[in-house]
Amino acid sequence: MSGTDLSAKLFADACKVIPGGVNSPVRAFSSVGGTPRFLTAAQGYWLTDADGNRYVDLVCSWGPMILGHAHPAVVAAVTDAAAHGLSFGAPTPTESELAAEIIDRMPPVQRVRLVNSGTEATMSAVRLARGFTGRPKIVKFSGCYHGHVDALLADAGSGVATLGLPSSPGVTGATAADTIVLPYNDIAAVEQTFAELGDQIAAVISEASPGNMGTVPPAPGYNAALRRITAEHGALLILDEVMTGFRVSRSGWYGVDPVDADLFTFGKVMSGGLPAAAFGGRAEVMERLAPLGPVYQAGTLSGNPVAMAAGLATLRHADAAAYAALDANADRLAALLTGALTDAGVAHRLQRAGNMLSVFFTDEPVTDFASARASQTWRFPPFFHALLDAGIYPPCSAYETWFVSAALDDAAFERIAAALPDAARAAAAATEPGD
Ligand SMILES: *Cc1c(COP(=O)(O)O)cnc(C)c1O
Repeated sequence: MSGTDLSAKLFADACKVIPGGVNSPVRAFSSVGGTPRFLTAAQGYWLTDADGNRYVDLVCSWGPMILGHAHPAVVAAVTDAAAHGLSFGAPTPTESELAAEIIDRMPPVQRVRLVNSGTEATMSAVRLARGFTGRPKIVKFSGCYHGHVDALLADAGSGVATLGLPSSPGVTGATAADTIVLPYNDIAAVEQTFAELGDQIAAVISEASPGNMGTVPPAPGYNAALRRITAEHGALLILDEVMTGFRVSRSGWYGVDPVDADLFTFGKVMSGGLPAAAFGGRAEVMERLAPLGPVYQAGTLSGNPVAMAAGLATLRHADAAAYAALDANADRLAALLTGALTDAGVAHRLQRAGNMLSVFFTDEPVTDFASARASQTWRFPPFFHALLDAGIYPPCSAYETWFVSAALDDAAFERIAAALPDAARAAAAATEPGD
């Protein structure tokens, strides 16, 4: 390793012009301490920082890079698209191709609208659900993150959880008043809320399988129960597949647990690493959007041709072999993590949702945000830094999911296996703050 002096200098410079030096809070390493690495290049599973250190990437840009970085077919498609013009603000053929690819993979989705971020996708889906039902209230679950939409920031997991914020100043009481936050995996709480307020609820929004409080899959039948209850009360079900979509299977979480939501949201993988996202669902609901219907939704750069090229090339190369590799790589990583932590005597739970996984330092199953927060998160920073120092790049928060790519190979796993025993001993030696 050649130190981190340049990253430290770049971070100091960034802090003079960007709040906290970052454009998305988790990147600042707030919960693990130390200097965030400033990355300058990535290829396959390798990340390179400004000081020339190399890391095996287990974050994959928080999910999108399933094929690995700078995949030749994706780079070629993007380069070709860029050479033909960066943005037109007019319809292009590739938008329909990407929408058709999404529809082909997701049987309940009949129409797709393309947007620029997962946040826009969930914000638009919530607006559409309210417009369609004529009702004000939204039910969300504690620990589920749906982007930084005002109405959805309450108890939102991810960066909000990492920073210990209950919600966010700047979200007015009026906005928050129409959001009902319930514990995750608790169908009785959903039944009770609908019994009391069912005719005011426009939609239930849930991560299809939550990954933003760590990996906390739904109990068997949970999403199906959400479907049943919402249908009984004339509310819509929105399953947020921004993280799981086209990652955990060809059809995302729907491929694992096929529940026909009214609306789905997508992002991350379908963007190929450029800013693109989408929401889609039944034609009857989606056709309430302008210009066909009265629910307004728009975007100067939506359906951007370069982003469409990246998303299409990624999905076209995300074939059965790629999904088999993702699953096998997640199995291998999970086995190494469990083995090393067990050898070091560290109580832990390795939780999986397809090829997404995370480690909780606890003996108890983690089924919701309360049990996630009850884990020994203070063991995570030394674990994280030992891995980082050994050239492995895990997510920089105990509440984030680990993401494998299909590009990982034997050499990558040898490096991970070599790094883990020291990291597990560092986790074992950690002491609770205040002790
Ligand atoms: C990442 C994420 C979002 C937000 O997407 P952005 O592109 O960061 O705005 C929404 N929902 C889920 C489940 C996510 O994981």
